[in-house]
Amino acid sequence: MSVETKRGIVVAGREMPEFRRIGVEPLTGACGAEITGVDLRSPLSEDVLHEVMAAFEHFLIILFRDQDISNEQHRAFSRYFGELTELPQAPTYGGYTDMQEVRREAHEPVTVVPFTKFHTDSPFLERPPLCMVMRALDAPKYGGDTAFANMYLAYEELSDGFKETLSRLRVVYSGRDIWSKNAKLDKDKQLRLRESHSFTEEQLESVHPAVRSHPRTGRKALFVTPSYFKRFEGWNEEDSRGLLDHLAHLPHKLQYQCRVRWKPNTLIVWDNRFLQHCGIHDYKDERRHLVRTTIIGERPI
Ligand code: MN
Repeated sequence: MSVETKRGIVVAGREMPEFRRIGVEPLTGACGAEITGVDLRSPLSEDVLHEVMAAFEHFLIILFRDQDISNEQHRAFSRYFGELTELPQAPTYGGYTDMQEVRREAHEPVTVVPFTKFHTDSPFLERPPLCMVMRALDAPKYGGDTAFANMYLAYEELSDGFKETLSRLRVVYSGRDIWSKNAKLDKDKQLRLRESHSFTEEQLESVHPAVRSHPRTGRKALFVTPSYFKRFEGWNEEDSRGLLDHLAHLPHKLQYQCRVRWKPNTLIVWDNRFLQHCGIHDYKDERRHLVRTTIIGERPI
């Protein structure tokens, strides 16, 4: 990015760019920033969009409050980040195949929503999502935050020898068996999944590097997550488990994290390539309803 850096302020592991057209307030030292001065109901000017993109690249999560937008405006803003995609497993929203929802009704158990542990979304796809654009329609009065962990920082703090070992590993991710596994659970424990889709079996499994690089900057991040994980390539499941457990612990370190507190009309964009995230279901008897688009990423390199 050609945005100038403000000397001396290091946040999210790099010098913070200077912003002139938008307000940018980091959420923590690790990742995330709240953006002000932008109205997502209208197209963005070129210079504002340039700074929004610079903030997204730097902070990995950008947060906007009070964005009372239509589904069409949501989709139009999403397209600045790339091509929208449908997903085989995530329930669709609003009659659009390329919008999804995460919904837990007030009476429903936590098991109805996917993955309350740290994960990246849909890593089984050949080109896993670049980012999600997600907006809250309903949120609990207190609780129900989403937590994020910066996986660049998690990778950068590993020892050199371990980094070298990880650089040779590839991970087999598969989404093929999630419907059959779900069907075996008791009805009140089942996850809400999309009922039908047109993806082929081949499209539901991919092998990706354990350490991936940003295609423009070359910055490296850990890309290992337990959801959809089958094994390291060339390893069996038992051998894979110990290393996976160790790596799955890393996003839990507080110094890599930020949390987003949802309110109705809070909208965030988060980078699914270089972050892991999880919903925090620390509330009861309230509705939580988030709607989103998913933008296709590059094949991990
Ligand atoms: Mn998720």
